[in-house]
Amino acid sequence: LAERLQATMSKIKGKGKVNEADVKEMAREVRLALLEADVNFKVVKQFVNRIKERAVGQEVMKSLTPGQQVIKVVNEELTELMGKEESKLEVADKAPTIVMMVGLQGSGKTTTAAKLANHLRKEKNRNPMLVAADVYRPAAIDQLQTLGKQLEMPVFSKGTEANPVDIVREGVEQAKAENHDYVLLDTAGRLHVDEALMDELQQMSDEIRPHEVLLVVDAMTGQDAVNVAEQFNEQLPVSGVILTKLDGDTRGGAALSIRAVTEQPIKFAGMGEKIDQLETFHPERMASRILGMGDMLSLIEKAQTNVDEERAKELEKKMRNADLTFDDFLEQLEQVKSMGSLEDILSMMPGAGKMKGMKNMQLDESQIGRVEAIVRSMTKAEKQDPKLMNASRKRRIAKGSGTSVQDVNKLLKQFEDMKKMMKQMSSMGGGKKKGKGGM
Ligand code: GDP
Ligand code: MG
Repeated sequence: LAERLQATMSKIKGKGKVNEADVKEMAREVRLALLEADVNFKVVKQFVNRIKERAVGQEVMKSLTPGQQVIKVVNEELTELMGKEESKLEVADKAPTIVMMVGLQGSGKTTTAAKLANHLRKEKNRNPMLVAADVYRPAAIDQLQTLGKQLEMPVFSKGTEANPVDIVREGVEQAKAENHDYVLLDTAGRLHVDEALMDELQQMSDEIRPHEVLLVVDAMTGQDAVNVAEQFNEQLPVSGVILTKLDGDTRGGAALSIRAVTEQPIKFAGMGEKIDQLETFHPERMASRILGMGDMLSLIEKAQTNVDEERAKELEKKMRNADLTFDDFLEQLEQVKSMGSLEDILSMMPGAGKMKGMKNMQLDESQIGRVEAIVRSMTKAEKQDPKLMNASRKRRIAKGSGTSVQDVNKLLKQFEDMKKMMKQMSSMGGGKKKGKGGM
């Protein structure tokens, strides 16, 4: 996808204003990207409409192309939708904080309850207790007990005959008595949302008034996740979401859908089956994962803040055309220095993975001074056309710059590699003409 977006962007490059046709074309790509990432189609539609409204007629910032400008809007909207900041777990004024896990069967409630308990103890220095309130699946209680043993953490249970509402009430009592500051309730799920289950969860929630009701959703459920989230959210006081199985090859579109439908923050992400594979959810990372853009946006932002806009444009053009001279090279060294290392910049570009192994292009920044000296010792003609370089010229340059012929050779090699790499980069967006490429 990133490639498609880039190709589209390059087509609409070089205009001063974002017009409707540009946006339409971009919007189509974004729509496809979101659908590919399994975002619910209703959510996609709303989202794309908002982008269109916002993007049309915007002035294009000097350092960006219209395509990049649209992408910027897309990313801002996406981040807005996903929530800007990480959100934390509630802490009750009066301990214990009661956290209830709800969700469909197999979504990861039991595993996540244990992961969360582990997280609270390890990262927050808390003393949590687990409560096994899933009495329908024979193995559910055992599963939680096993996890509890592994963590050396108490698990409250009453066997499969007890009433789940009684279990959680007594569980919370015991937690209070034993001075636990968190109680995590593992509840039952079904394969589909059903009345009886919802009634039971509602009763539980009415009875114990949890501080958090966390909806656990399998990220692989894709389109269906929306319906599930909608129903749980309508019937229970859901206060947050945990997205599990994000370690799979899902693009995580479910995150966007759920967020749009429930307007509840996604608080954690399950990244594997192991007990410590729970991470705080980062909305902005998810946004770029969904669009598959690498850290394109950070690159754009960097270019905006650190480099004079006009010069950035020049730099970009030279890089596209791969026809830079040593004069440009010198000037660009300065820019590169202000943007971080060349390697940093490259690693942020989508597709940069392909260029691994081109170690020669790495500029050792401590050697920038020497490089400058070498370039300054070149004649004007040599700077414009490095091919002129022969043994005697190299000797002269080495002497003039206080370096060695090897140093000069090394720089020439780096320079060639860099040009090669730029060529490669400018063809990455897919069959662009020279001078018209865009990132
Ligand atoms: P529950 O029915 O909602 O309690 O779901 P479980 O906690 O029993 O989990 C169902 C399955 O999903 C188990 O095999 C878990 O190991 C697995 N699982 C849970 N969370 C994750 C996760 O983040 N990544 C992966 N790969 N597997 C997970
Ligand atoms: Mg379970």
